Amino acid sequence: MIVVGAGVVGMTTALYLAREGLSVAVIDEQQGAGLSTSFANGGLVTPSTAMPWSSPAALKLLLRWIGREDAPLLMRPEAIPRLGLWGLKFAANCRPAAHLRLSKTLTHFARESLEELDGLIAQRMIDFPLGRGGLLAIYRDEAGLAARDRYVELLQGLAIETRTLDADTTVAMEPSLAPIASSLCGGLLLPNDAWGDAWRFSRAVEEASRKLDVACHFGTRLASLVVENGKISGLRTAETLMKARYVVICAGPRTPALLGPLGIRVPIMPVKGYSISLSKSDIGFLPRRPIVDDLAHIGVTPLGDRLRIAGTVEFAGYDGAIRPQRIDNLKRAVTALFPGMTMPDDLSPWAGLRPMTPDGLPIIDAIQISGLYVNSGHGALGWTLACGSARLMTAIIMGREPADGSPFRLARSFW
Ligand SMILES: Cc1cc2nc3c(=O)[nH]c(=O)nc-3n(C[C@H](O)[C@H](O)[C@H](O)COP(=O)(O)OP(=O)(O)OC[C@H]3O[C@@H](n4cnc5c(N)ncnc54)[C@H](O)[C@@H]3O)c2cc1C
Repeated sequence: MIVVGAGVVGMTTALYLAREGLSVAVIDEQQGAGLSTSFANGGLVTPSTAMPWSSPAALKLLLRWIGREDAPLLMRPEAIPRLGLWGLKFAANCRPAAHLRLSKTLTHFARESLEELDGLIAQRMIDFPLGRGGLLAIYRDEAGLAARDRYVELLQGLAIETRTLDADTTVAMEPSLAPIASSLCGGLLLPNDAWGDAWRFSRAVEEASRKLDVACHFGTRLASLVVENGKISGLRTAETLMKARYVVICAGPRTPALLGPLGIRVPIMPVKGYSISLSKSDIGFLPRRPIVDDLAHIGVTPLGDRLRIAGTVEFAGYDGAIRPQRIDNLKRAVTALFPGMTMPDDLSPWAGLRPMTPDGLPIIDAIQISGLYVNSGHGALGWTLACGSARLMTAIIMGREPADGSPFRLARSFW
């Protein structure tokens, strides 16, 4: 059994498969686990905000901000033709009824996934410091508060626990917000959300997997899949032929390129996001928990001795370049949140490509070639959904697929 991709999804999948007693190898073209999209993401494990991006509001904002470098959601005009059918399907999923249906599926799955993650830690399968205490969203004007109240209604309908806060309680809960206390109108605590460094988690899972004899081949690139008589028989790398009866593709945004030569179309689009990571010793403080600033469309997360600031959405194809203007947006946003903060010289700027499907749900399925599986397309929620996805992928491979089927099939309607 070979798992292709050692991001947070692939590494977790390898661990779950090895727990079944299977002989598992992982390959990744990077030199270690979690070095691509899973490397410096927002760090949130957030069932409370596990909604698809295709929403009535997102569509309006995307159209309003086409081509604007300072916008949190940027659609580069040259990227529009490439969106093609994917873009039409994304737009179709922005209908309120579709958004609600998909949100129900995702929040339920994300809750199960966090339970799985808690289980791995409780059973001491992995040694990992998962942050607890909830996610705090802040609001700065009456329009923001009205949006919060509509959001709370939606979350309560999805059985998600919420606590609405006035401005004073928000600052008492999070003293690092004291400098902007006078501009706050209120907050929202989502008490069950968690956080942690997805790269460190991928490394911790790698360590646990090796103890179960998973072989990790880093610096090893899949060149092509080998199919014989309609069955997968292995894969070719630049150096060698690796034989396998089962292959699971967990290649994140690269998944379509790996399956395309076999005639398998997978609707996954790369959607770029950026982060910066500031050292506590440089900025002199860390907030107690992640904070999402509704106005600036960013999130800040304390991760060990660093503050991660992540956000921005850019439809720009497979271009991983770090554009200074997008980093400036993150700097501006974090300064608006913590006005007294001195911006350090070392920002550790980073950009990653979210593997996004048009309906925001991952694809976790057996595909038409016997022995070939895919666990990919987790968009903005790969860390949140990794453990649940690994469990479901393993159940499908082991022939234990849930009786009610899976909403994550490749053959589902993406409209
Ligand atoms: C700015 C930003 C913030 C985010 N914040 C959050 C967050 O707060 N919470 C959350 O849940 N999610 C977040 N995400 C989303 C999350 O990071 C992704 O969904 C997740 O990392 C996807 O994991 P993956 O394992 O599928 O992909 P990846 O991490 O990209 O792993 C795929 C692996 O496949 C390998 N690969 C590809 N092609 C080949 C090949 N031919 N041969 C060998 N190996 C190959 C790659 O090298 C890579 O290591 C964020 C994303 C971004 C960009």
